Amino acid sequence: MNKYILAIDQGTTSTRAILFDRKSIPLYSAQREVKCYYPHSGWVESDPLELWVSVIDVINEILVKANITMKNIDSIGITNQRETTIVWDKETGMPVYRAIIWQSRQSNDICERLKKYEKFIQSKTGLIMNPYFSASKIRFILDHIPNGQERARKGQLMFGTVDTWILYKLTSGEVFATDVSNASRTLLFNIHTMSWDKELCDLFDIPMNMLPIVRPSSYRFGKASFFSSEVYVCGIAGDQQAALFGQTCFEKGESKNTYGTGCFMLLNIGDKPMISTNGLLTTVAWQIKDKVTYALEGSVFIGGAVVQWLRDEMQLIEKASDSEKMANKTDDCNGVYIVPAFVGLGTPYWDNDARGAVFGLTRGTNKYQFVRASLEAIAYQCKDVIEVMKKDSNLKIKTLKVDGGATANNYLMQFQADILNTPLKLPKCLETTALGVAYLAGLESGYFKSLDDISSCHVHKLIYEPNMSKNEIDRRYNGWKKAVEATQVFKI
Ligand code: ADP
Repeated sequence: MNKYILAIDQGTTSTRAILFDRKSIPLYSAQREVKCYYPHSGWVESDPLELWVSVIDVINEILVKANITMKNIDSIGITNQRETTIVWDKETGMPVYRAIIWQSRQSNDICERLKKYEKFIQSKTGLIMNPYFSASKIRFILDHIPNGQERARKGQLMFGTVDTWILYKLTSGEVFATDVSNASRTLLFNIHTMSWDKELCDLFDIPMNMLPIVRPSSYRFGKASFFSSEVYVCGIAGDQQAALFGQTCFEKGESKNTYGTGCFMLLNIGDKPMISTNGLLTTVAWQIKDKVTYALEGSVFIGGAVVQWLRDEMQLIEKASDSEKMANKTDDCNGVYIVPAFVGLGTPYWDNDARGAVFGLTRGTNKYQFVRASLEAIAYQCKDVIEVMKKDSNLKIKTLKVDGGATANNYLMQFQADILNTPLKLPKCLETTALGVAYLAGLESGYFKSLDDISSCHVHKLIYEPNMSKNEIDRRYNGWKKAVEATQVFKI
């Protein structure tokens, strides 16, 4: 009987299921949109039951599409939007509040109140004090439901990130667990001791009995029951860490960058955590058996979104792919720089108040240069992140593995390779997030024999080789640095 790995990818706007075979080929996929609610400015929530039902729906759909039953599934992997917070009643299994989505700022005040502990928190968690992470979201929920704190203290409530919620539901409430990569995004997990931290829990006044048990990422978490069949969930990882694994960045010094709406870059830093002095996050990448791997993480807020802006607001292009054609219609930007600080600047500037700017306009500047400069801005921002990663880690980044929607743009990819003076590798299977958790599940179940086994069947289809002189790189990058500096000076 043919066997496959079923990867479930629960994201912010959709839930997907993908079926992989032994050659890492995604054979079938199914998708359901999930709703986000915006009850107040800056708040983002979802319905946990809708998330759960969407998981069941995509599993059913994929079985029908592939014309197989659960007996053909070797094991299940779960990857998920990270940090999103769900609290439910232990007895009924019903959520007590909506899922608070990672982007939501509703627990901002709680973070402001505890801001003075930021250094202490960073030293234990590798993160910064920010409402993104789960701890302040749990605090918010306990403060906003009747007798929340008392119910939590009495052990009547359970907290989980989305992986934990899906696992709990898939196992009919038998298994209450998460993996280290998800735990490391809560602000409650000590990445040195690899356990929940009493001092951090006390700081947020979160009773420890509501936290799930923490397991390695590749682990026999529990049995999911579907009518008469039972299949083990054998892998769990947060989406960005799963993508790092799916890009086979198994060794220290290997890194991946995802070019989506924003850009997410992770660098494998090996088996010891290091705390950044340049605004990067330290995160647990994964754990396999006893071996923990850590990563540095940096993000660019406006990546592919600058192309959406060119299309929707500036109306310089009709569709995203036109940006490449336009960029190729000119030989050079002729000194035009666009700094797309539409929502402030992320790593390494962390400037919330900066806003976008254009520099170097002349009478001869045309729309092609404008589009080209916008694409180059994505690459410059990613270089900013890579430069601090190199500085913090002391590692040489020999190649960068890339994925995400904007990798379809050859101009952007070649310019990125040039300005980094580093080759870029694009994998054959772009579903790196789902693939990563399929690998983690398959390693535990025996479907994949070893990391070498995985590497040997993992194919990169395209390599962009750098082709720009050092002088030219310096000249262009210095111009970018000046443009960012000037952008930060201009505040209304
Ligand atoms: P997300 O997961 O954040 O929704 P995706 O990986 O689906 O992102 O990528 C979508 C992003 O990629 C959009 O911001 C879009 O503008 C950008 N994009 C898609 N195709 C191209 C292209 N050919 N050139 C440049 N950007 C592109």
